[in-house]
Amino acid sequence: MLENLSPQASDALLALIKMYAADERHDKIDLGVGVYRTGQGDTPVFAAIKQAERKLVETQDSKSYLGPEGDMGFVNGLMPYIFGGDATMGGRITGMQTPGGTGAVRLAVALAQKAGVDRLHIGKPSWPNHAQIFNDISLEAQWFEHARADGSANLEAVLDTINNAGPNDAVLLHGACHNPTGIDYSNEEWDAIAEAFATSGTFPIIDLAYQGLGHGMEEDAYGLRKVLNAVPEAFIAYSCDKNFGVYRDRVGAFYAMTRDADSLETVFSNANALARAAWSMPPDHGGATIRLILRDPDMTAVWLDELTQMRDRMRQVRASLGDAGMAGHVDFVPISKQNGLFSVLPVTPDQVKQLREEHGIYMAGSGRVNIAGLHMGNIEKFVNAVAAVTC
Ligand code: PMP
Repeated sequence: MLENLSPQASDALLALIKMYAADERHDKIDLGVGVYRTGQGDTPVFAAIKQAERKLVETQDSKSYLGPEGDMGFVNGLMPYIFGGDATMGGRITGMQTPGGTGAVRLAVALAQKAGVDRLHIGKPSWPNHAQIFNDISLEAQWFEHARADGSANLEAVLDTINNAGPNDAVLLHGACHNPTGIDYSNEEWDAIAEAFATSGTFPIIDLAYQGLGHGMEEDAYGLRKVLNAVPEAFIAYSCDKNFGVYRDRVGAFYAMTRDADSLETVFSNANALARAAWSMPPDHGGATIRLILRDPDMTAVWLDELTQMRDRMRQVRASLGDAGMAGHVDFVPISKQNGLFSVLPVTPDQVKQLREEHGIYMAGSGRVNIAGLHMGNIEKFVNAVAAVTC
């Protein structure tokens, strides 16, 4: 039986981690793996998480099952941050916990498919797992160009896609800190996108995996809120894994906004059924920890302060890259204006290999770099190496 299985390509980023670990050069630079790093190269547990975990250990009196919806205190506690003042849009939004943002994306697209969506439009390039998830549930994907060569967003392409989508189509957009390009829509561009969703009736799915890593918690929610204010219904996939630094604890949430409050029950009975069949219920620890943070103003302040420090550091790295200007044929100025953990260098796979082999600089084959892998001690080396391989 098992001989029927054919080998699958291994995850390129995991292979990169192994190569990086085996490299003995002391000044090697890891720009591959998608986690935040401090100026010292660490990915520490947030102080707010440590504090909340201690409280959780002391106060948790049972590990009995929750339902497929997970910890609703966590799910509801996040809502004002995501959706703003009227966090339920008059009782039309609710959610459920998922295993990471990955689980939330999976649930959003599988539920959209169950509701009749048979084609999903998405900008390219995108987080590679998007395509894998669509493929896994046999949902047809249609790709439009997300970015222009000058490092700005291709607004015409997304508007064209939304305006010309068919009645059984959905469009998935990254809410902020686009992975991998770091290229986000401006507020004015989001206004036009929201208008296009409103007039076309196309169903929006917004994936918000990096809220707070771009310009701020409120600022990074602008596009999502604008779209939700313009349309009758939408799905939202959310990840807490970056903005609370809890990657391996797998913390995410799926939210739906429906036409009226009464429709939520049917939508979530279907979402619960899908979750039950896929993972039964999400892991509790991370969601419970974040619930404790969000219910305690002091811990919330500690968390928001840590998030601000992360964001400021990444902006500082981007500003330093911008100051470097051109390196060979790579212009760092657009990269200085992009957002979040990632940007894509306009380099060839050969140049990526050269950076790795000759300079000990590790990045994805696509040229995607993790901005947080850079700090004041290695930016100069990085810029010089990029100049050397692209001149
Ligand atoms: N959406 C996007 C755009 C992502 O980049 C990621 C992963 N970083 C996810 C969803 C999934 O996040 P998680 O690690 O919480 O599963």
